[in-house]
Amino acid sequence: MTFSAMLSTAMLAKGGLSAENTGNTGGNADESSSQYAVKKPFGDSKDVARYDHYRVYSVMLDTNQHVNLFQKLEEQSDSLTFMGHAREVGQRLTVLVAAHKVADFGILLEIYGVQHRILALNFQEKIDRNMKEVIPADAAGASLDWKHFFHLETIYDWLEHMVAQYPTCLSIVEMGNSTHGVPIKGLKLSRKSTNKTIFIESGIHAREWIAPAAATYLINELLTAKHDAIQKLANDFNWIVFPCVNPDGYKYTFEHDRMWRKNRQLFGTCHGVDLNRNYPDHWNTTGASSDPSRYDYAGPSAASEIETMRLMDFLKANVENEQIRTYIALHSYSQMIMFPYGYTKEHVPNYNDLQELGSNAANRIQEISGRKYVSGSLIETIYPSSGGSMDWAYSNMKVPIAYTFELRGPSDSSDMFILPANEIEPTAHETFEAIRTIVEGANEKGYYK
Ligand SMILES: [Zn+2]
Repeated sequence: MTFSAMLSTAMLAKGGLSAENTGNTGGNADESSSQYAVKKPFGDSKDVARYDHYRVYSVMLDTNQHVNLFQKLEEQSDSLTFMGHAREVGQRLTVLVAAHKVADFGILLEIYGVQHRILALNFQEKIDRNMKEVIPADAAGASLDWKHFFHLETIYDWLEHMVAQYPTCLSIVEMGNSTHGVPIKGLKLSRKSTNKTIFIESGIHAREWIAPAAATYLINELLTAKHDAIQKLANDFNWIVFPCVNPDGYKYTFEHDRMWRKNRQLFGTCHGVDLNRNYPDHWNTTGASSDPSRYDYAGPSAASEIETMRLMDFLKANVENEQIRTYIALHSYSQMIMFPYGYTKEHVPNYNDLQELGSNAANRIQEISGRKYVSGSLIETIYPSSGGSMDWAYSNMKVPIAYTFELRGPSDSSDMFILPANEIEPTAHETFEAIRTIVEGANEKGYYK
């Protein structure tokens, strides 16, 4: 069956899919879909969001007044898209400002004396350039490379292509379907059933296109690299890699809005839950929103989302029998290697080990490419956030080696999530080497005994 045929079949079966998810305590999903009768994931619309003359600002919050100003601005206006929230004096913040607001915003910066830099004058130019680096959706999986960006259809065809190339050690793994009935698929590499397993989750945030690309690169490297140490890693560990755990969101970024982050569940007039705020671990306690219109909406309840339940069910069913001892989540951007927790500054029991392995991984990247990655606990490194998959895997599934990577570019990047395609390969390579450093280091410390 073709991917689109699969999608239509899944659409027809949508009633069955909802019935299956009786664990969805949110309740909103069914009410909203009957009210708005969603039959196709994105309707018949061919409309595409545009960001002409949107500006990217980097602002410095030098005083409490600045912090208050930006907190109010974020509350008041959805014409300003914040990367993180205004929290404290001394913080640098990136804000995407809608074209019709640039004059007013500029005047506010002047009146309140906010130091700032304009990182980009016309964000749409970056998106246009990026879309030229996308290979059409009907491209076969065999044509996948790390010099272009690929639609979900091609990535999924590549998974099948790889299994056909390596039938003795590779197999397709599936979590089940997304909110809109798209399968959540990945690969399992296993040469010995007794091996401990490394689990890679990628693409939970739709617009972070480098993440699925880094995940497919990792699989390819494990299978094709000649280096002894890499072959050893592929022989002595099993790997379960899901390149895209938010397939509806990922598709939406190619078809309708390059800057979409969440899933595509409907809540009355707003779409989407931030799936990395939806996990049942200190859910919605900090760095998450209760407002469905926000980019970090935590959902109506913990684990309300189908994609969250799929991943949780998969991990619960496999963490023991597959001996999953490492959990790595791939994101962009900011160049960070972070470990639990996201919701509290309290240290995890193996903080020192995770700090050491994370720093070694960051050093390895600097050796390879000169890029500077920062390592630390998530709350210390990027910002407070709760309900993330990594915290849940670490605390609830007892996976002791758990990291969230923010890949290229740097935190003051003017490209934000729009990484140029010529950076895919170097980014994926340094990420692979960082993961290798972590796994080899954890092995030396006895985590896989
Ligand atoms: Zn992310």
